Amino acid sequence: MLEVPLELRCNVCGHDRFTLPAADAMDQDVRCGECLAFKCHADDLEQHMLAAASSLPPQPGKTPRRLNAV
Ligand SMILES: [Zn+2]
Repeated sequence: MLEVPLELRCNVCGHDRFTLPAADAMDQDVRCGECLAFKCHADDLEQHMLAAASSLPPQPGKTPRRLNAV
Protein backbone atom coordinates (compact mmCIF):
# COMPACT_ATOMS: atom_id res chain seq x y z
CA MET A 1 0.00 0.00 0.00
CA LEU A 2 1.18 3.46 -0.89
CA GLU A 3 -0.02 6.56 0.93
CA VAL A 4 -0.04 9.68 -1.20
CA PRO A 5 -1.52 13.17 -0.97
CA LEU A 6 -4.28 13.68 -3.50
CA GLU A 7 -6.46 16.57 -4.61
CA LEU A 8 -9.32 14.90 -2.78
CA ARG A 9 -10.77 14.99 0.70
CA CYS A 10 -11.96 12.09 2.77
CA ASN A 11 -15.72 12.28 3.15
CA VAL A 12 -15.43 11.16 6.75
CA CYS A 13 -12.46 12.97 8.31
CA GLY A 14 -11.33 15.44 5.63
CA HIS A 15 -7.87 13.89 5.35
CA ASP A 16 -6.15 14.50 2.01
CA ARG A 17 -3.83 11.50 1.93
CA PHE A 18 -5.03 8.22 0.55
CA THR A 19 -3.67 4.73 0.31
CA LEU A 20 -3.43 3.39 -3.21
CA PRO A 21 -3.53 -0.35 -3.81
CA ALA A 22 -0.65 -2.07 -5.53
CA ALA A 23 -1.37 -2.84 -9.18
CA ASP A 24 -1.52 -6.56 -8.47
CA ALA A 25 -3.46 -6.30 -5.20
CA MET A 26 -6.73 -8.17 -4.82
CA ASP A 27 -8.31 -5.20 -3.13
CA GLN A 28 -8.35 -2.30 -5.60
CA ASP A 29 -9.93 0.18 -3.20
CA VAL A 30 -8.55 3.65 -2.63
CA ARG A 31 -8.92 4.41 1.06
CA CYS A 32 -8.36 7.33 3.40
CA GLY A 33 -4.87 7.21 4.90
CA GLU A 34 -6.24 8.35 8.25
CA CYS A 35 -9.51 6.55 8.92
CA LEU A 36 -9.36 3.97 6.10
CA ALA A 37 -12.78 5.00 4.81
CA PHE A 38 -13.43 3.78 1.30
CA LYS A 39 -13.01 6.61 -1.22
CA CYS A 40 -13.32 5.02 -4.63
CA HIS A 41 -12.15 2.18 -6.77
CA ALA A 42 -8.62 2.55 -8.10
CA ASP A 43 -9.93 2.42 -11.66
CA ASP A 44 -12.24 5.35 -10.90
CA LEU A 45 -9.63 7.45 -9.14
CA GLU A 46 -8.72 9.46 -12.20
CA GLN A 47 -12.37 10.33 -12.80
CA HIS A 48 -12.78 11.40 -9.18
CA MET A 49 -9.69 13.59 -9.34
CA LEU A 50 -10.80 15.20 -12.60
CA ALA A 51 -14.21 15.90 -11.09
CA ALA A 52 -12.63 17.39 -7.98
CA ALA A 53 -10.24 19.52 -10.03
CA SER A 54 -12.99 20.86 -12.24
CA SER A 55 -15.01 21.90 -9.20
CA LEU A 56 -12.17 24.08 -7.91
CA PRO A 57 -11.74 27.67 -9.07
CA PRO A 58 -9.08 28.05 -11.75
CA GLN A 59 -5.65 28.79 -10.36
CA PRO A 60 -3.82 31.94 -11.41
CA GLY A 61 -0.95 31.25 -13.76
CA LYS A 62 -2.58 28.05 -14.88
CA THR A 63 -4.35 29.16 -18.01
CA PRO A 64 -6.29 26.67 -20.04
CA ARG A 65 -4.62 25.49 -23.17
CA ARG A 66 -5.70 27.60 -26.09
CA LEU A 67 -6.45 26.51 -29.58
CA ASN A 68 -4.14 27.81 -32.22
CA ALA A 69 -5.81 31.02 -33.29
CA VAL A 70 -3.87 31.86 -36.42
ZN1 LIG B 1 -10.70 9.70 6.55
